[in-house]
Amino acid sequence: MRVYNFSPGPSALPLPVLERAAAEMTDANGSGQSVMEMSHRSKDYKPIIEKTESLLRELMGIPSNYKVLFLQGGASLQFSMIPLNLAAGDTPGQGKKVTYIDTGIWADKAAKEASKYAVVDVKASSKDKAYTYIPDAPAPSPGDAYYHITSNNTIVGTKWDKLPDTGAVPLVSDISSCILSEPLDVSKFGILYAGAQKNLGPAGTTVVIIREDLIGHAPSWVPVMLRYDTHAGEGSMYNTPPCYGIYMIGLVLEWVKNLGGVDAVAKLNREKAALFYDYLDSSKLFYSPVEKQFRSLMNIPFVTMADDDAKKTEQESRFVKEAAAAGLINLAGHRLVGGMRASIYNAMPIDGVKALIDFMNKFTA
Ligand SMILES: *Cc1c(COP(=O)(O)O)cnc(C)c1O
Repeated sequence: MRVYNFSPGPSALPLPVLERAAAEMTDANGSGQSVMEMSHRSKDYKPIIEKTESLLRELMGIPSNYKVLFLQGGASLQFSMIPLNLAAGDTPGQGKKVTYIDTGIWADKAAKEASKYAVVDVKASSKDKAYTYIPDAPAPSPGDAYYHITSNNTIVGTKWDKLPDTGAVPLVSDISSCILSEPLDVSKFGILYAGAQKNLGPAGTTVVIIREDLIGHAPSWVPVMLRYDTHAGEGSMYNTPPCYGIYMIGLVLEWVKNLGGVDAVAKLNREKAALFYDYLDSSKLFYSPVEKQFRSLMNIPFVTMADDDAKKTEQESRFVKEAAAAGLINLAGHRLVGGMRASIYNAMPIDGVKALIDFMNKFTA
């Protein structure tokens, strides 16, 4: 029996995608080999990476002056590559000025890493209220190399409801946990990046969408593998790319297209999230700690109302355990924040959300 997997990542993949991958496991497309066994430079593999890129361009409406890169190292490596390529100086430690907005644990990590290579100004933070809201976005400083936000905050369950106006300063966003969840105007950004393991495919591939004029500014001391010009110049094939992950992303994108594209998926995501938030807002036991205006469609943390800490901890750990026994797995909140969290990415069917609500009703009774 397949479980409903509420993991924040790696997370559930659409069943039809897994079934298709299984059917093609030992003989992909009549090649007599698994995609895992193909040379990345072979005639069998070329159409696979090309299809993945063209589907992503089509579904996200990526303008032609942007490159799509398939890299490794996770979203976390982008925390380093972005400042190294856009802001680092001729010697380490002499970087340009950049703005970061601190909306959660990933945003904070990104800013801390950037401060090794750039002069980081964290212009706003929602840490004062445990990151349960998105702060007003201040204007960038003139001459900033870029302005970094985290569009969807996976751990605390917030999202930017409108984009900051950064004028001529390139807006850079970590969209690891919301890529393809709602329409996004790519032309408003300088760089978008996402680890695949939340909404796109298996772990091991990072998608970077970068405006061409932002490529080629890394100082010469930046290692070859950490330079956008290296990867952009070779079509993500400077070295062996994460071949199988790129293939799986292609299957997921095909699935999204068959559902009707990002608009159709967004409609489903809004329905799923509304169902769950409405339930939380009317529950006598559970509630959402996040301000309504900033609630994520993808990651929904919730806690119990018990006023005694020991009781709360007991209730929450019992909830996570009993839910898992009922086939609703990975509902524990992030280790740094506790409580519970339901991650309901594109691949989570509405029946999964309904099953969770049924379970919560039983738990409450
Ligand atoms: C998961 C996540 C990361 C970390 O991704 P890795 O691929 O593990 O490096 C960074 N940012 C956000 C918003 C995430 O959700």
